[in-house]
Amino acid sequence: MKLQPINKIKDYKVEGNMDSLINHIVQLQELTLIRDEQKAASHSEHLEQLNKSIATMTAELPEEEQAAYKKLFKKDHIVIVPVTDDNCTGCGMKLPISLVQVVRQKKGVQRCPNCARILYSAVASPKRVVKRAKRSAPRKVGINRFSSSSLMIPEIEADNMDDCIKIFAELMEAETFVSDADKLADLAMARESVLSTVVDHGMAFPHVRGIEGGALAFAMGKSTAGLSLGAKNQGLTHIIFFIVIPTAASAFYLKLLAGLTETFRDPEAVEKIIAETTPAGMWKTLVKLTRSTIK
Ligand SMILES: [Zn+2]
Repeated sequence: MKLQPINKIKDYKVEGNMDSLINHIVQLQELTLIRDEQKAASHSEHLEQLNKSIATMTAELPEEEQAAYKKLFKKDHIVIVPVTDDNCTGCGMKLPISLVQVVRQKKGVQRCPNCARILYSAVASPKRVVKRAKRSAPRKVGINRFSSSSLMIPEIEADNMDDCIKIFAELMEAETFVSDADKLADLAMARESVLSTVVDHGMAFPHVRGIEGGALAFAMGKSTAGLSLGAKNQGLTHIIFFIVIPTAASAFYLKLLAGLTETFRDPEAVEKIIAETTPAGMWKTLVKLTRSTIK
C-alpha cells in the first residue's frame, strides 16, 4: 500500500515567530492527536505513516525536552497548551501575570504550575459563545449537551470540503454557538490540509481544537447522493460532523468520535438519518440513534 504523505503542519496556531522548539512540540502533539482521532474513528489507512512521523519528531527533540515530553505524554496526550485569557487551557487555572508575560516573550519552555503542561502563546481563536441555561431548565443528557436541531443540515449543498466547512462555520456563528465564522473556517481548513478527516463508512469530521469559553459543540450535515470529499479511492461521504473542541475536552472528543463511528458504521442507521428531510426530524433521529453510543 502506498502511503499518502502527511503534510507538514503550518504554524497556524502559534503566534508570531515562536521559538522553534515550542513549534516543534506543537506539531508533534498535533500529529499524536490526529493519530488518536484516526484510531477513534476506526480508520487505519494512515496509522503507519503517522507512527513514523511521530517517532521521527520525538527523536528530534533535545534530550531534556524529550524526557519531559514523554513523561507528560504518559499522563495525557495534551502536553502543550495555549494560554487564553491568562488561563492554562489544559487545566483551566488562572496563571500569574508574570508567567503569562514570560510565555508571551517566548523565553524558554514555561510550564503550568498546576498541571505541568508546557504553555505557549497562541493566535486569537474564535470563541465558543455560551448561552446561560435557565435555572429551571432540566439538565441536558447525551448529545443534547453539544448540539441542537438548529445545527442540523438535512441536505448540505457543497462540492468540496472547503465549502462544507464554510457552510458549517457560518451556521455556527449565525446560531450564536461560535464567534468569527471566517477565522473558524480558516482553522478547520488548515487542520484538513494536514490530513483529511474523511474516514470510512461515508463519514467525515472536520474540526477545530482550541475553541475555548464553553463546551464542545458540533453541527451535522448530510448528503443523500453523497459528496466526493476524500481521496479518489474513498467512497462518497454521506455524513459530516463539524466539531469545535475546547482544549480541555480533547479526551471527550475522542469518545464522541468513537460513539458516532459506532452508530454510523451500521448501514441501517445511515439510512434512517438520510431519510430525514427536516432539521428537527434529523435531530430527533440522531438523538435516538446515539442514545446507547454517546453517554
Ligand atoms: Zn495547567
